[in-house]
Amino acid sequence: MAINSLISMLGALDAALSLCTRCGLCQAVCPVYSVTGNEADAARGKIFLLDGLASHLFDDPAGVSERLDRCLLCGACEAECPRGIKITQTYIAARSILAEYMGLSLGKKVLFRQMLARPERFDRLAAWAARFQWLVTRPAGLLSSPVSQNMVSPLLINRWVPALPITPFHRMEIPERPTEVKGHRVAIFAGCLIDKVFPDIAVAMIEALKYHRADISVPAGQGCCGIPALSSGDMKSFQSLVALNLERFNPDDFDWLVTGCATCTAVIKKIWPEMSGWQIGSKNHVRLKRISEKTIDFSGLMIDIIGVAPMKTGSSSPLVTYHDPCHLKNSLGVMEAPRKLLCASNAFRFAEMKDADTCCGMGGGFCLSFPDISRSLGDRKRDRIMGSGADVVATSCPACMIQLADLSITAPRSFGVRHVAQIYADGLRLCRPQPSDAS
Ligand code: SF4
Ligand code: SF4
Repeated sequence: MAINSLISMLGALDAALSLCTRCGLCQAVCPVYSVTGNEADAARGKIFLLDGLASHLFDDPAGVSERLDRCLLCGACEAECPRGIKITQTYIAARSILAEYMGLSLGKKVLFRQMLARPERFDRLAAWAARFQWLVTRPAGLLSSPVSQNMVSPLLINRWVPALPITPFHRMEIPERPTEVKGHRVAIFAGCLIDKVFPDIAVAMIEALKYHRADISVPAGQGCCGIPALSSGDMKSFQSLVALNLERFNPDDFDWLVTGCATCTAVIKKIWPEMSGWQIGSKNHVRLKRISEKTIDFSGLMIDIIGVAPMKTGSSSPLVTYHDPCHLKNSLGVMEAPRKLLCASNAFRFAEMKDADTCCGMGGGFCLSFPDISRSLGDRKRDRIMGSGADVVATSCPACMIQLADLSITAPRSFGVRHVAQIYADGLRLCRPQPSDAS
């Protein structure tokens, strides 16, 4: 990398870091700090480290990188910071500087540049993995869906993970539009996990949107939102994925771009416009801004835009509780809409759990890099779910669902794990009256 480019990246980082007053408010809310008690793990400690990045970069780049990786990118610190520092973006920028300086590992290069950034190749790999997963997996007892990656379990730290469906969402037939569409024009951004692991979430979203007479479109050839690459410092793959999606989604064609993934929503709304590399005011940047302004989480669309109302449920209906995904609550401040959507399903009764907004410990690759911290956070979450008495825990993020499914299998009393869209769609199937008009 050109040294001038590195110096300019470090200068931009310094400007963000200079805002920090070292007040320490971020420490109290940091889930990693709550487990380790190590001040260097909280945002203040990391900012202190980054403040001297220019000198540390040459002394001990691997050490800096390792300490920066001890972060879930959950955004709890950012939501608390009185100085409004974009802490997670600062970490991401620092990881990108380190990756440029040290170079990406071969594994990450192959994963991000040869797979993730090439959707057709990634789709083929996922199809191959789904077809042959039976060779390395076994079912989890009586539960048919989750499986353990038996032979590769050392790599996955003995975690239970959901089975890959044979038919991903992008290969499913999308129901035809009603002849007289009256509702909002809604484009669906599936995201990798919903497309390849939980296509039933997208099916439930479509069922609900159809019920409310939305004009649904699913642009073909969608790519990943780019966050796995970006959080590993691979800015190049991230920016190529943003450019690819920019071609696929024309903001003139929809009123809302909806996702069922909290992380995709936060990344498209907040990170795409800021880290795409397009110059502010350029044609592509303007288009990106329009896309990000129209992007909304599924529950926000249903409650705030479509106006779905609460339903009465029978006292014998099963109980559902809600886990707040960090990227929805901390990054976007969305807490009410998913709960209201759960209360709009007449198939369940809602019960709040304690500490619903604390991190489940998933954090993308964090759960594999730091399994003990991830497990401690997961155990706390599992106890809270059990304490609520709920039969099912719902959430708005497929990544959280992977962690919650693993927790369910190891819990003394197992519980279901669903997406809020599935809970709402369950209610629709119980003889809900047709709306008189698109609302
Ligand atoms: S809350 Fe903000 S200002 Fe305070 S120490 Fe943390 S990052 Fe710095
Ligand atoms: S993003 Fe989350 S895990 Fe990382 S420092 Fe902030 S609060 Fe801690």
